[in-house]
Amino acid sequence: MEKFLKDVKRKIEKEGKRNNIGEDTIKRLLLPERFLEFTIEIGGRYISAYRCQHSSILGPYKGGIRFSEQVTRDEVEALSILMTLKCALIGIPFGGGKGGAIVDPRKISEKEREQLAREYVKGVFPIIGPETDIPAPDINTDEKIISIMADEYSRIVGKCSPGSFTGKAIKDGGLAGRSEATGYGGFAVLEEVCRVKGLKNPKIAVQGFGNVGLNFVHYAEKAGFKIVAVSDHAGGVKREEGLIVKDAVKSKHVADIKGERISNKDLLEMGVDFLVLAAVENVITEENTDRIRAKHVICLANGPVTRKAEEDLHQKGVVVVPDILANAGGVVASYCEWKQAQKERKCSKEEVFSSIAKNLKGSFCELESLMKEKSDKKLTLSCAAISVALSRLEKGYLKKNGESK
Ligand code: GLU
Repeated sequence: MEKFLKDVKRKIEKEGKRNNIGEDTIKRLLLPERFLEFTIEIGGRYISAYRCQHSSILGPYKGGIRFSEQVTRDEVEALSILMTLKCALIGIPFGGGKGGAIVDPRKISEKEREQLAREYVKGVFPIIGPETDIPAPDINTDEKIISIMADEYSRIVGKCSPGSFTGKAIKDGGLAGRSEATGYGGFAVLEEVCRVKGLKNPKIAVQGFGNVGLNFVHYAEKAGFKIVAVSDHAGGVKREEGLIVKDAVKSKHVADIKGERISNKDLLEMGVDFLVLAAVENVITEENTDRIRAKHVICLANGPVTRKAEEDLHQKGVVVVPDILANAGGVVASYCEWKQAQKERKCSKEEVFSSIAKNLKGSFCELESLMKEKSDKKLTLSCAAISVALSRLEKGYLKKNGESK
């Protein structure tokens, strides 16, 4: 995981230099503003937990909480940096944060899960709040867990505080469409790439069938796109004429989809128009770049392609749509939910989806024009995205510090 953090920081340094971003802004962005580390005790077990507040230059810290045995301190920090860049790129007035705990909530009882959620909130309580740091869901933290967390926060402050967390269940002040938002955003990006590049009837393979992958597939299939392969941790399935994925949307098991059984590795190496990575980080690395045959890669997970692999794919002519754009649908919806809590006006699913599509499609077009304008063969979409984010962050940094460039 150390590599993930190093990669993210290296990208900031490199794009900072390339775009003449002031040294002070870069130095500030290479260090988190605050990192909280604490221990949760559940049934005699000690669980390490974290909340990283990376940057508040553009607004309150914002970012999910991940519960997984793979969580590390470095991973949380890297993910918080990506949140800062993501919000800056898509123009949402939030900063970047991320939380995590080294635990698989699927391996503990329901009672312990609730205790875990409440203890996590007690640990981060001193530094979070609707105006300072607003956590959200991430891997293994669903709307049920987030509702419990918002309830615990409200209990501690002694009043209902729906603005303290986003990603709550609808009955607890959550937003229609929030849980589908990241997958839907990925689908909106797919549509836009096809429109801009004039692609018709592309073949799509999707790695990951969790909340994000599943919703991506759902909207893509509904719109008539051909999904030729999907996989989850247990393996994959393929069918050249297109899979019928809707049968598995309820059960959420790839095993319920008819087709030829393949491995995860087979899926990654398929000659498709789009490879959508919706699982975890570091899936395409220097080790397998030369075997990737997809024409476009959409990063729906955070950090699924390493920095070097991204450069190598770009050299081969593969278009890699970066995570900070492709998976930004979640935080756009979170912004709607947070505004909803402030204004006490319900936001409809249509409104949420239309703001996701408008925002992500607009950002993609902005990056496309930047790529044309610079006409630098080495410039990847990810570099362009980071450079847009950095210039916004620099403006904000200088404004905060009373200077202007
Ligand atoms: N965990 C999601 C992400 O990585 C959502 C964060 C949020 O809505 O604050 O973008």
